[in-house]
Amino acid sequence: MRIVLFGPPGSGKGTQASILKEKLGMAHISTGDALREAVANRTEVGLKAKSYMDKGELVPDEVVIAIAKDRLASAGDAGFILDGFPRTIAQAEALDAALDEIGKPLDAVVNLQVDEEELIRRLSGRRVCPGCGEPYHIDSKPSAVEGRCDKCGGELMHRDDDKPEAIRNRLGVYNNQTAPVLGYYDGRGLLRNIEAVGAIAEVSDRIVQAIRS
Ligand SMILES: [Zn+2]
Repeated sequence: MRIVLFGPPGSGKGTQASILKEKLGMAHISTGDALREAVANRTEVGLKAKSYMDKGELVPDEVVIAIAKDRLASAGDAGFILDGFPRTIAQAEALDAALDEIGKPLDAVVNLQVDEEELIRRLSGRRVCPGCGEPYHIDSKPSAVEGRCDKCGGELMHRDDDKPEAIRNRLGVYNNQTAPVLGYYDGRGLLRNIEAVGAIAEVSDRIVQAIRS
């Protein structure tokens, strides 16, 4: 099974990717991680990517695709979950071409749907300890003493990025960027929309059902 996992920040994409990886034995491929690894290992494409990063420029699509392609080709028979990529139609087309070349086309593109108010509720409840980095959530993982880190006693912080207005901006950017990509995959009959609310296990069951249908 070869899938792309889509979802706005707060949709539980990372959680679901690791559950699918466990359940179905698929490789979880994050292009961000693959990029960092290629740079660290100083591979040919890694060095190319680094030359852009050193100048503070975005790594061009073809370099990201080249890096992803190596990882995708080496994924086992159980397939892969691609997360955080593609973000534009150009990247989606390049990905399709690369996958066709290695004879491993996508089976499904899963879109985790959560309404905006719920996403804001989830994301704005995040707190973090600036001292030790421990993450908290006012609903799902509160600290024992309000505002204090359980581990080191530090004062918990509400990052600006996790405040409602910033979240609305992030969601707006996400929607603008990804809506066209979802349309592209819908046109190819690959899009599966999943209602990503409720218990984590229920959501992963829905995903498995959708990608097997
Ligand atoms: Zn702490």
